[in-house]
Amino acid sequence: MVLNSADDLEMPDKCVVIVGAGVAGLSAARDLSKRGYRVCVLEETDHVGGRVGTQQVGDLAFNRGARLLYSCSKPFSALLEELGLADNLSHARQLTAKTIGRDACWDVHLMPGPASLFTPGLTFKERYRLVRHAVQLWKLRRRADPDDATSVREADDIALSDYILQTLGENALSRLVDPIFIGARNWLPDDVSPAFYLSTIPNLFGTSVMSLKPDMQALPDAIASGLDIQTNARVTRITPGNPCEIQIQRGGETETLTAAYVICALPGDLVPAVMPSLADEDSRFFSQVRYSSYGAVHYLLDCKKEESMQFYSRDAARGVSLFQASPAGEKTQLYAQLSPDAVARARNEGRTGQLDQMIAERMAAICPELETHCIERHNQWIERMLPMFQPGYCTALRAFRERRNSAPQRVYFCGDYLYQALLNGAVASGHAASGNLVRDWT
Ligand SMILES: Cc1cc2nc3c(=O)[nH]c(=O)nc-3n(C[C@H](O)[C@H](O)[C@H](O)COP(=O)(O)OP(=O)(O)OC[C@H]3O[C@@H](n4cnc5c(N)ncnc54)[C@H](O)[C@@H]3O)c2cc1C
Repeated sequence: MVLNSADDLEMPDKCVVIVGAGVAGLSAARDLSKRGYRVCVLEETDHVGGRVGTQQVGDLAFNRGARLLYSCSKPFSALLEELGLADNLSHARQLTAKTIGRDACWDVHLMPGPASLFTPGLTFKERYRLVRHAVQLWKLRRRADPDDATSVREADDIALSDYILQTLGENALSRLVDPIFIGARNWLPDDVSPAFYLSTIPNLFGTSVMSLKPDMQALPDAIASGLDIQTNARVTRITPGNPCEIQIQRGGETETLTAAYVICALPGDLVPAVMPSLADEDSRFFSQVRYSSYGAVHYLLDCKKEESMQFYSRDAARGVSLFQASPAGEKTQLYAQLSPDAVARARNEGRTGQLDQMIAERMAAICPELETHCIERHNQWIERMLPMFQPGYCTALRAFRERRNSAPQRVYFCGDYLYQALLNGAVASGHAASGNLVRDWT
């Protein structure tokens, strides 16, 4: 590839290299391919999907990343329909997790609704403020775009925890928001702005979360279908120009490809290393892109255990923020997600391959059967789980997008870090990048 075949020489302006086969890059590739562009996707690993897909290690099967899809994103739902995946979705309007605190136990509802009002431990004033807040969130529906965290401009300069303390109160933070953000997102509300919360929650009223059958790999596989994808091809340098040059390493060899345009769909913090020619203000933006990390241990028991899922509150986690048991026949697969402080410790102490040892004592207390019934275990470490959207990030992101949109480019960017820290945000970023390229050059 790329300007090599007779076809390419006849229409060199139609050659695009996409760097990274996550759902953002795949969505951009699919759009452009449908519009008649000749597209080649380069991917470092041996599989497509990036942070979405499934992995099998021995008898343990688990997700590489995302587990749930959100029906509130209309473009994303349309894509699922178009890919023929709509019939493979299981919808849930209620998602409840038992939360275990230091001296109490309560249900947390992941979808907003009246049930949250009955959460034990809230003061009367907090319940009253929760009702008023729900009305404000409901009104925000008109503006809040679940695909784009920058759609809600309020409160970008403070931490989500401060926003919740000011708007609702201390118990609402510890009882409602903390468990969901820590358990489901592995984010401490102290580290992110309210952008994710305010752009998603208003859209979750009355909608559903979905899981995909047979598993999450079906999504990237369907988007990738029919595309020219080269795996085990690590991109080491992108040089914008006419044509652009793309340096890759595969099988110990270095090659250089050329293309009229590049869509760079790498995680944002990796961009400066492959694009040293970035303008200073773009470099400054990319230096602000940060990701939370993720650590989990998967276990297989040779006995049946009741299906369960529980979150642990910040003060009760002691290393594990989420525990899940999923029986299958006479065996049970267990999942233990490390709490944010344990994740930080694992990285700082260089123990990302020994997560099971770090939480061994805690897991013995949570699940005594582990000691005698565990027949397999696997440590899963994901260096980049979710982009952080820390205070101030959305303001910098808006400026970056406006700057890049103000003139035609040879290199476009996409990825969840540019829209929303969700699959639907990654897909939206891919649509935006391909749409901008077509708009600028036709
Ligand atoms: C544990 C976890 C749970 C999640 N849960 C959910 C959820 O329930 N619902 C939800 O909507 N979202 C969830 N997400 C977020 C969602 O998975 C991501 O937002 C989305 O998959 C990001 O897609 P992307 O294409 O932007 O990035 P990525 O998937 O990271 O794609 C980037 C691609 O670039 C490749 N690459 C990197 N370097 C190079 C290089 N030098 N050369 C070539 N290729 C390279 C990578 O291998 C990867 O394939 C979760 C994520 C994680 C990790």
